Amino acid sequence: MTNRIRVGITGYGNLGRGVEAAIAQSPDMRLVGVFSRRDPAGVQLLDSEVPVYSIDRTEEFTDEIDVMILCGGSKSDLPEQGPYMAGLFNVVDSYDTHASIPEYYASVDQPARESGHVYLLSSGWDPGLFSINRLMGEAILPEGETYTFWGKGLSQGHSDAVRRVPGVKGGVQYTIPSETAIERVRSGQLPQLETRDKHVRECYVVLEEGADANAVRHAIVSMPAYFADYDTTVHFIDEATLKAEHGAMPHGGFVIRSGKTGQDNDQVMEFSLKLGSNPEFTASVLVAYARAVHRLARLGDIGAKTVFDVAPGLLSPKSPAQLRKELL
Ligand code: NDP
Repeated sequence: MTNRIRVGITGYGNLGRGVEAAIAQSPDMRLVGVFSRRDPAGVQLLDSEVPVYSIDRTEEFTDEIDVMILCGGSKSDLPEQGPYMAGLFNVVDSYDTHASIPEYYASVDQPARESGHVYLLSSGWDPGLFSINRLMGEAILPEGETYTFWGKGLSQGHSDAVRRVPGVKGGVQYTIPSETAIERVRSGQLPQLETRDKHVRECYVVLEEGADANAVRHAIVSMPAYFADYDTTVHFIDEATLKAEHGAMPHGGFVIRSGKTGQDNDQVMEFSLKLGSNPEFTASVLVAYARAVHRLARLGDIGAKTVFDVAPGLLSPKSPAQLRKELL
Protein backbone atom coordinates (compact mmCIF):
# COMPACT_ATOMS: atom_id res chain seq x y z
CA MET A 1 0.00 0.00 0.00
CA THR A 2 1.37 3.42 -0.95
CA ASN A 3 1.10 6.50 1.26
CA ARG A 4 1.05 4.53 4.46
CA ILE A 5 0.95 6.61 7.66
CA ARG A 6 4.51 6.77 8.99
CA VAL A 7 4.56 6.17 12.76
CA GLY A 8 7.26 6.47 15.42
CA ILE A 9 7.21 5.01 18.94
CA THR A 10 8.88 6.80 21.87
CA GLY A 11 9.49 4.56 24.87
CA TYR A 12 9.58 0.80 24.59
CA GLY A 13 7.94 -0.85 27.60
CA ASN A 14 4.69 -2.84 27.72
CA LEU A 15 2.77 -0.16 25.84
CA GLY A 16 5.53 0.38 23.26
CA ARG A 17 5.56 -3.35 22.48
CA GLY A 18 1.76 -3.26 22.17
CA VAL A 19 1.93 -0.35 19.70
CA GLU A 20 4.47 -2.22 17.60
CA ALA A 21 2.11 -5.23 17.48
CA ALA A 22 -0.94 -3.06 16.66
CA ILE A 23 0.84 -1.30 13.78
CA ALA A 24 1.68 -4.74 12.36
CA GLN A 25 -2.13 -5.33 12.18
CA SER A 26 -2.75 -2.00 10.40
CA PRO A 27 -1.97 -2.24 6.67
CA ASP A 28 -2.33 1.55 6.24
CA MET A 29 0.56 2.21 8.67
CA ARG A 30 4.29 1.74 8.72
CA LEU A 31 6.56 1.80 11.78
CA VAL A 32 9.56 4.02 11.00
CA GLY A 33 11.47 3.41 14.23
CA VAL A 34 11.49 3.24 18.00
CA PHE A 35 13.12 5.94 20.15
CA SER A 36 14.41 5.02 23.60
CA ARG A 37 16.38 6.57 26.41
CA ARG A 38 18.29 3.32 26.75
CA ASP A 39 21.24 2.29 24.61
CA PRO A 40 19.52 1.32 21.31
CA ALA A 41 21.69 -1.80 21.09
CA GLY A 42 20.09 -3.11 24.29
CA VAL A 43 16.45 -2.70 23.18
CA GLN A 44 15.14 -5.81 21.42
CA LEU A 45 12.00 -5.22 19.36
CA LEU A 46 9.45 -7.86 18.32
CA ASP A 47 10.41 -7.20 14.67
CA SER A 48 14.17 -7.01 14.45
CA GLU A 49 13.90 -5.25 11.05
CA VAL A 50 12.62 -2.05 12.71
CA PRO A 51 15.47 0.28 13.78
CA VAL A 52 15.90 1.57 17.36
CA TYR A 53 17.32 5.07 17.85
CA SER A 54 18.42 7.13 20.82
CA ILE A 55 15.68 9.53 21.91
CA ASP A 56 18.26 12.32 21.41
CA ARG A 57 17.90 11.81 17.65
CA THR A 58 14.15 12.45 17.30
CA GLU A 59 14.71 15.91 15.77
CA GLU A 60 16.34 14.24 12.75
CA PHE A 61 13.04 12.51 11.95
CA THR A 62 10.56 15.38 11.71
CA ASP A 63 10.23 14.82 7.92
CA GLU A 64 10.08 11.01 8.21
CA ILE A 65 7.30 10.58 10.79
CA ASP A 66 3.63 11.58 10.42
CA VAL A 67 2.59 10.66 13.98
CA MET A 68 4.70 9.94 17.07
CA ILE A 69 3.08 7.67 19.68
CA LEU A 70 4.43 8.33 23.18
CA CYS A 71 4.52 5.17 25.31
CA GLY A 72 6.26 6.46 28.44
CA GLY A 73 4.78 6.49 31.93
CA SER A 74 2.32 9.20 32.96
CA LYS A 75 4.04 9.98 36.25
CA SER A 76 7.37 11.36 35.08
CA ASP A 77 8.01 10.49 31.39
CA LEU A 78 5.06 12.18 29.64
CA PRO A 79 5.17 15.53 31.53
CA GLU A 80 8.72 15.91 30.17
CA GLN A 81 8.42 14.23 26.75
CA GLY A 82 4.93 15.49 25.79
CA PRO A 83 5.63 19.27 25.60
CA TYR A 84 8.95 18.60 23.84
CA MET A 85 7.47 16.26 21.21
CA ALA A 86 4.55 18.67 20.66
CA GLY A 87 7.07 21.05 19.12
CA LEU A 88 8.26 18.44 16.62
CA PHE A 89 5.49 15.99 15.65
CA ASN A 90 1.81 15.18 15.58
CA VAL A 91 1.49 13.11 18.76
CA VAL A 92 -0.76 10.57 20.49
CA ASP A 93 -0.29 9.64 24.15
CA SER A 94 -2.11 7.77 26.94
CA TYR A 95 -1.62 10.23 29.85
CA ASP A 96 -3.76 8.75 32.62
CA THR A 97 -3.30 10.94 35.72
CA HIS A 98 -6.96 12.03 35.60
CA ALA A 99 -6.69 14.88 38.13
CA SER A 100 -3.86 16.60 36.22
CA ILE A 101 -5.29 16.35 32.69
CA PRO A 102 -6.28 20.08 32.46
CA GLU A 103 -2.72 21.25 33.29
CA TYR A 104 -1.18 18.63 31.05
CA TYR A 105 -3.50 19.69 28.21
CA ALA A 106 -2.26 23.29 28.53
CA SER A 107 1.39 22.17 28.62
CA VAL A 108 1.14 20.42 25.23
CA ASP A 109 -1.41 22.73 23.57
CA GLN A 110 0.86 25.76 23.37
CA PRO A 111 3.90 24.04 21.76
CA ALA A 112 1.58 22.09 19.41
CA ARG A 113 -0.08 25.34 18.25
CA GLU A 114 3.24 27.13 17.87
CA SER A 115 4.70 24.34 15.76
CA GLY A 116 1.47 23.66 13.83
CA HIS A 117 0.87 20.09 15.07
CA VAL A 118 -2.05 18.08 16.46
CA TYR A 119 -1.53 16.51 19.92
CA LEU A 120 -4.07 13.95 21.12
CA LEU A 121 -3.58 13.34 24.85
CA SER A 122 -5.11 10.86 27.29
CA SER A 123 -6.19 8.28 24.75
CA GLY A 124 -6.54 4.60 25.72
CA TRP A 125 -9.47 3.07 27.64
CA ASP A 126 -9.56 5.04 30.91
CA PRO A 127 -9.09 7.82 30.11
CA GLY A 128 -10.24 7.21 26.55
CA LEU A 129 -13.07 4.88 25.57
CA PHE A 130 -14.54 5.00 29.11
CA SER A 131 -14.50 8.82 28.99
CA ILE A 132 -16.51 8.81 25.74
CA ASN A 133 -19.07 6.48 27.31
CA ARG A 134 -19.35 8.63 30.45
CA LEU A 135 -19.99 11.63 28.18
CA MET A 136 -22.59 9.79 26.08
CA GLY A 137 -24.40 8.60 29.19
CA GLU A 138 -24.67 12.11 30.66
CA ALA A 139 -25.66 13.71 27.35
CA ILE A 140 -28.36 11.17 26.52
CA LEU A 141 -29.74 10.52 30.00
CA PRO A 142 -29.38 13.85 31.84
CA GLU A 143 -31.38 12.53 34.81
CA GLY A 144 -29.36 9.66 36.17
CA GLU A 145 -26.06 8.45 37.60
CA THR A 146 -22.84 7.24 35.97
CA TYR A 147 -20.93 4.36 37.55
CA THR A 148 -17.41 3.23 36.59
CA PHE A 149 -16.16 -0.17 37.77
CA TRP A 150 -12.64 -1.43 37.05
CA GLY A 151 -11.45 -5.01 36.83
CA LYS A 152 -10.88 -7.75 37.22
CA GLY A 153 -7.51 -6.24 36.65
CA LEU A 154 -3.92 -6.20 37.70
CA SER A 155 -3.09 -2.81 39.18
CA GLN A 156 0.55 -1.86 38.69
CA GLY A 157 0.52 0.81 41.41
CA HIS A 158 -1.07 -1.43 44.05
CA SER A 159 1.20 -4.35 43.11
CA ASP A 160 4.22 -2.06 43.66
CA ALA A 161 2.79 -1.03 47.05
CA VAL A 162 2.46 -4.70 48.09
CA ARG A 163 6.05 -5.42 47.02
CA ARG A 164 7.35 -2.56 49.18
CA VAL A 165 5.99 -4.16 52.40
CA PRO A 166 8.87 -5.57 54.53
CA GLY A 167 8.88 -9.39 54.34
CA VAL A 168 7.38 -9.50 50.81
CA LYS A 169 9.53 -11.07 48.12
CA GLY A 170 7.07 -10.74 45.25
CA GLY A 171 3.40 -10.19 44.60
CA VAL A 172 0.55 -8.83 42.51
CA GLN A 173 -2.74 -7.13 43.26
CA TYR A 174 -6.05 -7.52 41.44
CA THR A 175 -8.91 -5.03 41.63
CA ILE A 176 -12.23 -6.86 41.39
CA PRO A 177 -15.61 -5.14 40.90
CA SER A 178 -18.35 -6.18 43.30
CA GLU A 179 -20.96 -8.30 41.46
CA THR A 180 -23.61 -7.23 43.97
CA ALA A 181 -22.93 -3.55 43.30
CA ILE A 182 -23.01 -4.07 39.52
CA GLU A 183 -26.32 -5.93 39.71
CA ARG A 184 -27.85 -3.14 41.82
CA VAL A 185 -26.72 -0.56 39.25
CA ARG A 186 -27.96 -2.63 36.29
CA SER A 187 -31.37 -2.99 37.90
CA GLY A 188 -31.86 0.79 37.74
CA GLN A 189 -31.91 1.29 41.55
CA LEU A 190 -29.51 4.29 41.31
CA PRO A 191 -27.70 3.19 44.51
CA GLN A 192 -25.31 5.48 46.43
CA LEU A 193 -22.14 3.38 46.55
CA GLU A 194 -19.17 3.94 48.85
CA THR A 195 -15.62 3.06 47.73
CA ARG A 196 -15.76 -0.16 49.76
CA ASP A 197 -19.03 -1.23 48.11
CA LYS A 198 -17.75 -1.02 44.53
CA HIS A 199 -14.50 -2.99 44.48
CA VAL A 200 -12.59 -5.56 46.48
CA ARG A 201 -8.83 -6.06 46.33
CA GLU A 202 -7.06 -9.41 46.17
CA CYS A 203 -3.32 -9.83 46.71
CA TYR A 204 -1.11 -12.82 45.84
CA VAL A 205 2.09 -12.61 47.87
CA VAL A 206 5.37 -14.53 48.04
CA LEU A 207 7.00 -14.14 51.46
CA GLU A 208 10.70 -13.68 52.17
CA GLU A 209 12.15 -16.61 54.08
CA GLY A 210 11.29 -16.32 57.80
CA ALA A 211 8.80 -13.45 57.28
CA ASP A 212 5.76 -13.29 59.58
CA ALA A 213 2.67 -13.90 57.41
CA ASN A 214 0.27 -12.23 59.86
CA ALA A 215 2.41 -9.10 60.13
CA VAL A 216 2.62 -8.87 56.32
CA ARG A 217 -1.13 -9.37 55.94
CA HIS A 218 -1.83 -6.65 58.53
CA ALA A 219 0.64 -4.22 56.89
CA ILE A 220 -1.11 -4.70 53.53
CA VAL A 221 -4.78 -4.54 54.54
CA SER A 222 -4.26 -1.48 56.77
CA MET A 223 -2.14 0.51 54.25
CA PRO A 224 -3.70 3.98 53.94
CA ALA A 225 -4.69 5.25 50.45
CA TYR A 226 -4.09 1.81 48.90
CA PHE A 227 -5.99 -0.84 50.90
CA ALA A 228 -7.47 0.56 54.12
CA ASP A 229 -10.68 1.71 52.38
CA TYR A 230 -11.34 -1.68 50.75
CA ASP A 231 -12.07 -5.25 51.72
CA THR A 232 -8.71 -6.81 50.92
CA THR A 233 -7.83 -10.52 50.84
CA VAL A 234 -4.20 -11.68 50.96
CA HIS A 235 -3.26 -15.11 49.57
CA PHE A 236 0.24 -16.48 50.18
CA ILE A 237 1.71 -18.45 47.28
CA ASP A 238 5.13 -19.75 46.21
CA GLU A 239 7.38 -18.15 43.64
CA ALA A 240 6.68 -20.77 40.94
CA THR A 241 2.91 -20.14 41.20
CA LEU A 242 3.42 -16.38 41.00
CA LYS A 243 5.41 -16.83 37.81
CA ALA A 244 3.11 -19.42 36.25
CA GLU A 245 -0.29 -17.94 37.10
CA HIS A 246 0.14 -14.20 37.59
CA GLY A 247 2.35 -13.06 34.71
CA ALA A 248 -0.37 -11.71 32.39
CA MET A 249 -1.80 -8.19 32.58
CA PRO A 250 -5.57 -8.60 32.35
CA HIS A 251 -7.89 -5.68 32.99
CA GLY A 252 -11.22 -4.22 31.98
CA GLY A 253 -14.32 -2.82 33.56
CA PHE A 254 -17.71 -1.22 33.03
CA VAL A 255 -19.18 2.23 32.52
CA ILE A 256 -22.87 2.15 33.33
CA ARG A 257 -25.29 5.07 33.02
CA SER A 258 -28.59 4.49 34.70
CA GLY A 259 -31.31 7.07 34.23
CA LYS A 260 -34.98 7.78 33.84
CA THR A 261 -36.94 9.32 30.97
CA GLY A 262 -40.56 10.33 30.35
CA GLN A 263 -43.06 8.72 32.69
CA ASP A 264 -40.46 7.14 35.02
CA ASN A 265 -39.05 4.64 32.51
CA ASP A 266 -35.71 3.07 33.52
CA GLN A 267 -32.94 3.30 30.92
CA VAL A 268 -29.54 1.61 31.38
CA MET A 269 -26.56 2.15 29.06
CA GLU A 270 -23.57 -0.13 29.58
CA PHE A 271 -20.12 -0.37 28.02
CA SER A 272 -17.76 -3.10 29.14
CA LEU A 273 -14.23 -4.30 28.41
CA LYS A 274 -12.66 -7.65 29.23
CA LEU A 275 -8.99 -7.40 28.35
CA GLY A 276 -6.50 -10.25 28.20
CA SER A 277 -3.70 -7.67 28.01
CA ASN A 278 -4.20 -4.11 29.23
CA PRO A 279 -1.14 -2.65 27.44
CA GLU A 280 -1.90 -4.38 24.12
CA PHE A 281 -5.49 -3.12 24.12
CA THR A 282 -4.46 0.40 25.17
CA ALA A 283 -1.89 0.35 22.37
CA SER A 284 -4.54 -0.68 19.84
CA VAL A 285 -6.62 2.36 20.86
CA LEU A 286 -3.59 4.65 20.48
CA VAL A 287 -2.92 3.33 16.97
CA ALA A 288 -6.52 3.95 15.83
CA TYR A 289 -6.25 7.51 17.20
CA ALA A 290 -2.92 7.98 15.38
CA ARG A 291 -4.89 7.48 12.15
CA ALA A 292 -7.38 10.16 13.22
CA VAL A 293 -4.60 12.56 14.24
CA HIS A 294 -2.93 12.16 10.86
CA ARG A 295 -6.20 13.01 9.13
CA LEU A 296 -6.89 16.02 11.36
CA ALA A 297 -3.37 17.33 10.70
CA ARG A 298 -3.84 16.95 6.94
CA LEU A 299 -7.06 18.96 7.22
CA GLY A 300 -5.01 21.77 8.79
CA ASP A 301 -6.14 21.33 12.40
CA ILE A 302 -3.65 22.16 15.18
CA GLY A 303 -3.37 22.10 18.99
CA ALA A 304 -4.22 19.72 21.81
CA LYS A 305 -7.23 17.40 21.49
CA THR A 306 -8.84 14.74 23.61
CA VAL A 307 -11.04 11.82 22.55
CA PHE A 308 -14.03 14.19 22.95
CA ASP A 309 -12.81 16.24 19.99
CA VAL A 310 -12.35 13.44 17.45
CA ALA A 311 -15.17 12.22 15.19
CA PRO A 312 -15.39 8.38 15.32
CA GLY A 313 -15.24 7.97 11.51
CA LEU A 314 -11.68 9.32 11.55
CA LEU A 315 -10.52 6.27 13.53
CA SER A 316 -11.43 3.81 10.80
CA PRO A 317 -9.26 2.93 7.82
CA LYS A 318 -12.51 2.73 5.78
CA SER A 319 -13.79 5.68 3.75
CA PRO A 320 -16.87 7.63 4.92
CA ALA A 321 -18.85 6.08 2.01
CA GLN A 322 -17.81 2.56 3.06
CA LEU A 323 -18.72 3.30 6.67
CA ARG A 324 -22.19 4.60 5.70
CA LYS A 325 -22.81 1.46 3.67
CA GLU A 326 -21.40 -1.14 6.07
CA LEU A 327 -21.74 0.11 9.64
CA LEU A 328 -24.63 2.56 9.94
P1 NDP B 1 6.51 0.50 31.37
O1 NDP B 1 7.04 0.72 32.75
O2 NDP B 1 6.54 -0.87 30.77
O3 NDP B 1 7.32 1.49 30.36
C1 NDP B 1 7.48 2.86 30.62
C2 NDP B 1 8.84 3.31 30.09
O4 NDP B 1 9.88 2.73 30.86
C3 NDP B 1 9.11 2.86 28.66
O5 NDP B 1 8.57 3.78 27.74
C4 NDP B 1 10.60 2.74 28.59
O6 NDP B 1 11.21 3.96 28.16
C5 NDP B 1 11.01 2.43 30.05
N1 NDP B 1 11.32 0.98 30.17
C6 NDP B 1 10.52 -0.07 29.84
N2 NDP B 1 11.13 -1.24 30.07
C7 NDP B 1 12.34 -0.92 30.59
C8 NDP B 1 13.45 -1.68 31.03
N3 NDP B 1 13.45 -3.02 30.97
N4 NDP B 1 14.53 -1.03 31.50
C9 NDP B 1 14.55 0.33 31.56
N5 NDP B 1 13.54 1.11 31.13
C10 NDP B 1 12.46 0.49 30.65
O7 NDP B 1 5.05 1.11 31.37
P2 NDP B 1 3.80 0.62 30.47
O8 NDP B 1 4.25 0.57 29.06
O9 NDP B 1 3.18 -0.57 31.08
O10 NDP B 1 2.75 1.82 30.69
C11 NDP B 1 3.03 3.12 30.20
C12 NDP B 1 1.91 4.07 30.58
O11 NDP B 1 0.71 3.74 29.89
C13 NDP B 1 1.45 4.04 32.04
O12 NDP B 1 2.26 4.86 32.84
C14 NDP B 1 0.06 4.62 31.95
O13 NDP B 1 0.18 6.02 32.13
C15 NDP B 1 -0.35 4.40 30.51
N6 NDP B 1 -1.60 3.61 30.41
C16 NDP B 1 -2.74 4.27 30.04
C17 NDP B 1 -3.94 3.59 29.92
C18 NDP B 1 -5.17 4.30 29.47
O14 NDP B 1 -6.22 3.65 29.34
N7 NDP B 1 -5.15 5.59 29.18
C19 NDP B 1 -4.04 2.15 30.24
C20 NDP B 1 -2.76 1.54 30.56
C21 NDP B 1 -1.60 2.25 30.65
P3 NDP B 1 12.63 3.93 27.36
O15 NDP B 1 12.45 2.99 26.20
O16 NDP B 1 12.82 5.34 26.95
O17 NDP B 1 13.65 3.44 28.33
